[in-house]
Amino acid sequence: MGDSGGGLAQLSVPLIFSVMSVTKLKKKLDVVFSRYVRTRDLDDNGRATCFTCGVQKPWKELHAGHFQSRSKLATRFDEVNVQVQCPRCNLWNQGEQYQFALNLDEHYGAGTAQRIVAASNGTRRISAGEYQQLIAHYEAETQKNLEEGGRTR
Ligand SMILES: [Zn+2]
Repeated sequence: MGDSGGGLAQLSVPLIFSVMSVTKLKKKLDVVFSRYVRTRDLDDNGRATCFTCGVQKPWKELHAGHFQSRSKLATRFDEVNVQVQCPRCNLWNQGEQYQFALNLDEHYGAGTAQRIVAASNGTRRISAGEYQQLIAHYEAETQKNLEEGGRTR
């Protein structure tokens, strides 16, 4: 009797720990993925361009804006769903969703916005191991982006 109680307690600790670490990894990937998106098309002065209004600013002053909400895990880390946006478009104009859709189709081909909407409603589960791989991948890509963005031609 005492043994089974102790066994249960021992089991629940690593379980809680793993749930917490996935939450932490997801937050970490949010930060890393945002940096990746904002640095992927830098000009020689380290400036990026808002996807929906075209304003250019230093990448650190811009946001990574989601076409379909961040609450949808299936497209939360999708490189097409997430684009550079200025704070005005991202926060004050509700993400400029209509313009976002038009520009997605223009940049990636007709039907892209529709495809992203459909994909966003799918289910996706990301394991701790996958989060770690994605974090490492996007950290390395961001490093490359920053090296290329700082280079003058
Ligand atoms: Zn904008």
